[in-house]
Amino acid sequence: MTAAADVVVVGAGLAGLVAARDLTAAGRSALVLEARDRVGGRIVNEDIGDGKIVEMGGQWAGPTQDRILAVAAALGIATFPTYDTGRKVLHFNGRRGTYTGTIPRISPLVLADVGQAQAWLEALARKIPTDAPWTAQRAERLDSQTFETWIRHHTASRSARMLLTLGAEAVFAAEPGDLSMLHVLFYSRSGGSFQRLIDTTGGAQQDRFAGGSALIAQRLAAQLGDIVRLGAAVSRIEVAGDKVTATTVAGRFDCRQIIVTAPPQLAGRIDYEPALPHWREQLTQRTPMGSVIKSQVIYDEPFWRPDGLAGQATGDGDGSRVVFDNSPQDGSPGILLAFLEGDEARRLGREPLEVRRRTVIDSLVRYFGPRAARPERYLERDWQQEKWSGGCYGTLFGPNVWTRYGHALRQPVGPIHWAGTETASQWTGYMDGAVRSGERAAAAVLARLPS
Ligand SMILES: Cc1cc2nc3c(=O)[nH]c(=O)nc-3n(C[C@H](O)[C@H](O)[C@H](O)COP(=O)(O)OP(=O)(O)OC[C@H]3O[C@@H](n4cnc5c(N)ncnc54)[C@H](O)[C@@H]3O)c2cc1C
Repeated sequence: MTAAADVVVVGAGLAGLVAARDLTAAGRSALVLEARDRVGGRIVNEDIGDGKIVEMGGQWAGPTQDRILAVAAALGIATFPTYDTGRKVLHFNGRRGTYTGTIPRISPLVLADVGQAQAWLEALARKIPTDAPWTAQRAERLDSQTFETWIRHHTASRSARMLLTLGAEAVFAAEPGDLSMLHVLFYSRSGGSFQRLIDTTGGAQQDRFAGGSALIAQRLAAQLGDIVRLGAAVSRIEVAGDKVTATTVAGRFDCRQIIVTAPPQLAGRIDYEPALPHWREQLTQRTPMGSVIKSQVIYDEPFWRPDGLAGQATGDGDGSRVVFDNSPQDGSPGILLAFLEGDEARRLGREPLEVRRRTVIDSLVRYFGPRAARPERYLERDWQQEKWSGGCYGTLFGPNVWTRYGHALRQPVGPIHWAGTETASQWTGYMDGAVRSGERAAAAVLARLPS
């Protein structure tokens, strides 16, 4: 067979670029076909002038995310700590309070209620085999209930339920009712613990990449050169004998093995010939994406810092319920990163930009006072609206998906392999998981290619 390449990789996000890096390093030819007109997928930098950027997609890394940190270090990209000095703000039940550390100053009864539920969750999570969560003890039972049902059964107070809901929204960009309990446990375990997912220092939000996370994708792509083709959405994958053909608007590409790195929902939109087995087809019918709008609100300076505030806030009101200080490393300009997640992203995503902007800024005023009302600029990206992501941060597994279809997530179908952060068993949903998945898929393909 005359192959355009030994391997075609669908998608030039981190998973696809890392897979291509490993394939070419092993002496194999590869082609990376990317639908967008840029590389990076769910990571993207936006220029704000003066040589500075903000990250509109994935940005943080933390302890045990060794693979993304290694890839960045090899490309000469340094990290710096997320600003985490000072008091954090909690606006809850109509009242504003500040606190240090990870435990807000609220009623001890509510704290005990949340603490007990979280301890229970962490204990259950420790028992989940992340390579095959559907084999966990009582997997069926855990998978047949939502996180919302579980929270209701394991908390006594409305406030505790709300705090756990805020945690779920921040981690999944979804509501507890969107998520299978087994998925919440798997996801927590895959990052170490639920606590690590929500922590700044010591957790998933600990560090940022100098120059922005998208620099990692840009430098990987630069090393790969012209084997990365942009504007090349794969619409069809055809397997005939030992030949695989990927069809794009930019032409048809033959190969021996193919790695699809798009999240399952988007992978399911490709036309496969012959049709995929029912278990894979039905998995992709059941894997929706989360709902997030990421806003960067830019001020002349980080005015909250002299007040002793860390620029981190959470609350149960309208608008942003999760805020971080996202100023550049030198502290200029001052930037508050305000997420709209789950129902707030769904609701405000239907409003005009001006309504959304005002609602986000009003929430910042509640957290940080009247100076927050006067930003210099407001930037946002609605990932629900991104054709080639379909939502973010990642895939939501609702009830009965892991136990019925989990086995189909990574299992190749003939010469078709599946990668992308959703297929990772460590740090699934994160950039680190994307890198791990690309490395795994490349190794599997290399083992199969004839020498
Ligand atoms: C707002 C936001 C905040 C986040 N925050 C963090 C964070 O702080 N830390 C962290 O670790 N992670 C974070 N994430 C998640 C992280 O960005 C992702 O886990 C990671 O980038 C996924 O990489 P991937 O390569 O698996 O998938 P993707 O980046 O989605 O790459 C898949 C690629 O496939 C392309 N594609 C899709 N369909 C086709 C097709 N048919 N043909 C050709 N190409 C196709 C897409 O355009 C895309 O480029 C965040 C994500 C978002 C959106």
